Formats: sequence, C-alpha cells, structure tokens
Amino acid sequence: MTTDFNATKAMFDLPDGVIYLDGNSLGPMPKAAAARVAQTVTAEWGQMLIRGWNQAGWMEMPSRIGNRIAKLIGAEEGSVVMGDTLSIKVYQALASALEMNKPRKVILSDNGNFPSDLYIADGLARTLGEGYELRTVAPEDVEAAITDELAVLMLTEVDYRTGRKHDMARLIEKAHAHGVLVVWDLAHSAGAIPVELARDGADFAVGCSYKYLNSGPGGPAFIYVAPRHQERARPALSGWLGHEAPFAFDLDYRPGNGVERMRVGTPPILQLAALDAALDVWEGVTLQEIRAAALALQDRFIAGVEAACPDLELATPREHANRGSQVSFRHAEGYAVMQALIAEGVIGDFRAPDILRFGFTPLYIGPDEVDRAVQILARIIETKAWDRPEFKARSRVT
Ligand SMILES: *Cc1c(COP(=O)(O)O)cnc(C)c1O
Repeated sequence: MTTDFNATKAMFDLPDGVIYLDGNSLGPMPKAAAARVAQTVTAEWGQMLIRGWNQAGWMEMPSRIGNRIAKLIGAEEGSVVMGDTLSIKVYQALASALEMNKPRKVILSDNGNFPSDLYIADGLARTLGEGYELRTVAPEDVEAAITDELAVLMLTEVDYRTGRKHDMARLIEKAHAHGVLVVWDLAHSAGAIPVELARDGADFAVGCSYKYLNSGPGGPAFIYVAPRHQERARPALSGWLGHEAPFAFDLDYRPGNGVERMRVGTPPILQLAALDAALDVWEGVTLQEIRAAALALQDRFIAGVEAACPDLELATPREHANRGSQVSFRHAEGYAVMQALIAEGVIGDFRAPDILRFGFTPLYIGPDEVDRAVQILARIIETKAWDRPEFKARSRVT
C-alpha cells in the first residue's frame, strides 16, 4: 500500500498561504471533523437530548475510539481508553504504577521531559509523602541510572523541544530487568512515528490527541494499560465512570473491567466526535510510510536551512533513529524570528530559551512547502526582518 499524500492533504482545511509546521503542537482541522461536530451538536445533542448517551453511543465513545488509537500505537484491543487531559492521564498512570511497585518509592525521569509531567510527578510524590521522590537526569544518562532502587521510569519518548527520541524497546528491557515499571508519554509519538507498545512490552502509556492526531484544541488524552496489568492497576482517580457498574450507584468503589477503570467522569462528547472523524484520515495510511516521508521532509529542511542560515544551530539529532517528527534550531532571537516567520505564513513555534520548532507531518506537508519555508526563513535571517519591536513582544502562548 502506498499512501496518496495529495488525497490526505485534501482532507484538511488549511488557510490559503499558510505553511503549517506546527501540527506537533496543534494539528490542523480535518474537514470531516467540522461536519461531524456540527452533526453531533444539532442531530444528537439537539434532537436526542439525554437519549444520546444510549442512542448515539456516547457512553462507548472513550473505549471505541481508544481502540482506533490502539491501532496507531501498536497496542492490544481493549487496552486504550480516552478521557481528560494528558496531565491527568500522567497522574493516573504514574499513581497506578507506583502502587504496583511498592515498597519502591523513586520515580526517574529526564530533564528534557515536558514540565507538566515533572510537576505532576513531583506533586504526586509529595502527596504520597515519606520517601517518595522524583529524580531527573540528563536524557542521555537515563539508561545508566536504571537500578533496582527505582519504582517507575517515566519518560516522554520524543523530547518536545529538541525532537530527540528515546529507544523505547531498549529502555523497557533494561527497566524490566531491574523490576522497574515504565510509563511512556507519547505526546509527540502518537500519529508521528511507529510505536509498538505490545511488541516492546510497555507497561503504561499516555498521550494527547490534539497534536499529531488532529482532534482540535482541548481534545481528550488517552491512556494505555498493558493487558497483563489491567486487573492489578488501581485507579488513583476513582471516578464513577471507572466503576464496575456506574449506574448501580453503589457507595463502595469497585474498579471497572480492564482499562475502562481509567475513565474518570463524563467524557467530552463534542471533542470525541471531532477526534473520531479526524481518525478517518488514518484509514489506509501506515505509520511506516508516514515515518519515511517525514524523515525525508526533515532532511530536506535541515539541509536547506544549514546551507542558507549559518546563524541557526541544529538542536535535533541527525541520526534518524534518534529523532521524532520535528526539527528544532537554536537562535538567540528565536522568539522574534518565529514571529517574523508567522507573519509570512510559515507557522512553527518557539520554546524557551532559544528553540525554533518545526513539525513535519506528511499528511498535509510536502517538499514544495518545505522549500518555500526554507526560502522565507533564509530571507528573514539574511535581512534581519525579525529585528522589529512587534516581533519581540511576547504573547501568552509562544
Ligand atoms: C503537550 C504535552 C502535554 C500537555 O498536557 P495537557 O494536560 O494536555 O495540557 C503534557 N506532556 C507532554 C509531554 C506534552 O508534549
């Protein structure tokens, strides 16, 4: 099977004149998502009212759509469920893993991890109290720091700033050899690179749907629990929809079947409807093809920028095996450079202190867009077009 990337591009509604290199932060809108949300609002919410929970299958959406995402991350049927935000799913996965690995109390992560994951881990360690601790090391030192002392290794596979990618299979193998459970954050992996959770023996994984899976702002997160752990993993956020029988309204909590126990409360139906439609884009697309095309686009971008802009320093590993689907460059005035780019229709983003980030998603980006983005960036650097006060005033979201 070969993917027709012209056909996938036609499924997205992108503004004219925009080269969108920020699908790693917020995926663009699939046309079908807008239509589906409109239909869910008017025909389902509007006409069915509360009957929609049964008649429109709203209550099953978190697990039905979880199964669709499972196919994109190499997970078993019945091992993924949707809900809440990624930060909350990090909390749930970490709390369950820590409880399963008592009396060990140390969480190991790396200092390239996304701050929310680290804040959540630190907050959970404080709540659990005596002896619980979050330790961070440099990403390249993670493997050596895995010892029998650790309870949980918590990593984001692809670094949100640099695009550096951990070797998931290798780290899981070493962690398991030392009795350590692993929680993977797939925020920059799901829909971007092939992931094989079942094959690699993952324990827990979490990720968001609004980045490479294009569910729209605020789209729900997913959580994966390996089938072998599902009956032992106790949910720390024991909400009613994770109960074995929510509508029995028992006073005592009994965890639901399998991964369903990781549900918390009422699911966001409008966002799930958008996600369900967005996932249709993946029918007939393999992640191997996406990966090969994305690497070719990245290499083209890196070569073009390095040839034209010696001021920019590549922050992403050159080795294919060691990077995800984004390319980052450092520039001391990175924020202003990105604002100047955005003003010219090339949309990437900026991450403090000096990172210009560009995501490459072959579903709607091709070599022509890459070449035009390189040309525009080269001109902005060459002419110092970024050196204007309006490009230096920081917005709330960078
Ligand atoms: C995007 C991202 C988040 C965001 O979490 P939300 O709760 O969805 O805001 C968390 N962790 C990582 C690694 C991310 O890349």
